[in-house]
Amino acid sequence: MQDMLVVGGGYVGLAVAVAVKQAAPHLDVTVADGAPKGAWEKDLRASAIIAAATRMLQVFGIWDEIHPEAEPITRMIVTDSKTGDPVRPVFLTFDGEVRDGEPFAHMIPNSVIVGALRRACERLGIEIRQGIAATNFTAGEVSVSTTFSDASAIESRLLVACDGVRSRLRDMAHIKTVSWDYGQSGIVVTVEHERPHNGCAEEHFLPSGPFAILPLKNNRSSLVWTERAADAERLVASDDLVFEEELERRFGHKLGALHVVGDRRAFPLGLTLARDFVAPRFALAGDAAHGIHPISGQGLNLGFKDVAALAETIVEADRLGLDIGSVNVLERYQTWRRFDTFRMGVTTDVLNRLFSNDVTPLRVVRDFGLGLVDRLPGLKSYFIGQAAGTAGRGSPRLLTGQAI
Ligand SMILES: Cc1cc2nc3c(=O)[nH]c(=O)nc-3n(C[C@H](O)[C@H](O)[C@H](O)COP(=O)(O)OP(=O)(O)OC[C@H]3O[C@@H](n4cnc5c(N)ncnc54)[C@H](O)[C@@H]3O)c2cc1C
Repeated sequence: MQDMLVVGGGYVGLAVAVAVKQAAPHLDVTVADGAPKGAWEKDLRASAIIAAATRMLQVFGIWDEIHPEAEPITRMIVTDSKTGDPVRPVFLTFDGEVRDGEPFAHMIPNSVIVGALRRACERLGIEIRQGIAATNFTAGEVSVSTTFSDASAIESRLLVACDGVRSRLRDMAHIKTVSWDYGQSGIVVTVEHERPHNGCAEEHFLPSGPFAILPLKNNRSSLVWTERAADAERLVASDDLVFEEELERRFGHKLGALHVVGDRRAFPLGLTLARDFVAPRFALAGDAAHGIHPISGQGLNLGFKDVAALAETIVEADRLGLDIGSVNVLERYQTWRRFDTFRMGVTTDVLNRLFSNDVTPLRVVRDFGLGLVDRLPGLKSYFIGQAAGTAGRGSPRLLTGQAI
């Protein structure tokens, strides 16, 4: 019997496996993932990884292999304008350090993080069973039995579901969600430009939603371009010329000639918050527990916070000789994470509703708010600390750079 089975081998599933196994090597940990072998290498997206999550990756011992591909975000600017406006006035700027030499976030290609986590699993002796999807599970008194698409089954003391925002395991556990669709999609694409971005990230609030330009290595940027769902589909399906023209209308010419690199894809955007994070012998983590709007680039970072809190809960319970699958133990994790998750879900929801429109009175109010934050250094550093995940007491140890 395994001690912990993790279903879902995305960043969150792999990270929770590494965090537990590193701190408690005697526990048997297996990861099962439904995607075909090698699918993760084809993910062309990149994510903004906050300072607190970077500290956890340092404890895992994988930051040195990720670092060469990680572009520090040294500055951030926020604008609010109409799509066709020739100039986008800057309402808010952030200088991006939480302390000397520690940027508040890095932009990192997804495949680089997943690759490093998979190698860490291998070093720690964690088996990754690739290409098998969980089809059902039954929780009993002392263990939980999970069945898979290849007719195999795994018995474990604890099942951790990291199977993404459409989590089947969450439904099978009868955990209800609060969820709605924004009617928007995020087009994700990488561009190459003539001039350097100097580590500056830009968030342009446009009537159809935020248009984010996030710096990557080598004069490249990753774009998260929000449009109404039907417009996003149309743009993704359009020919290269139309797509690049629409892109330039939003991106502008400040970084010189633009060139799209690789594929473009649209991701439907919604809010999904699980009402419970745990059940007997069962815990949710990552997008399976919460899918949020990418307006603040915090989705994966919330998942990394789950990882740190869940791993600490499991490891400490194990050290005390407690049953790691008991709901009494798991409730500590739920209490730890639920408030922060709901707060972030609500914040991203309000921001998206406030900024994704062209209503003049709302524009006046929000621009006044942005201008106010810009003029108050105390408030600004508060927001930087919040965005970087380094503010506040009671953070799990991994997020402060300490081993469990
Ligand atoms: C457009 C866009 C931009 C974003 N940008 C950012 C950003 O800049 N910063 C940030 O922090 N976040 C960002 N996010 C959010 C981030 O991508 C997600 O939060 C993150 O992918 C969640 O990771 P996860 O491991 O929980 O789930 P996923 O990455 O969805 O992984 C789920 C895994 O579970 C597997 N799986 C599913 N079902 C089963 C099953 N039944 N059995 C076995 N395996 C299964 C899948 O194969 C997959 O490997 C963005 C999201 C979008 C849509």
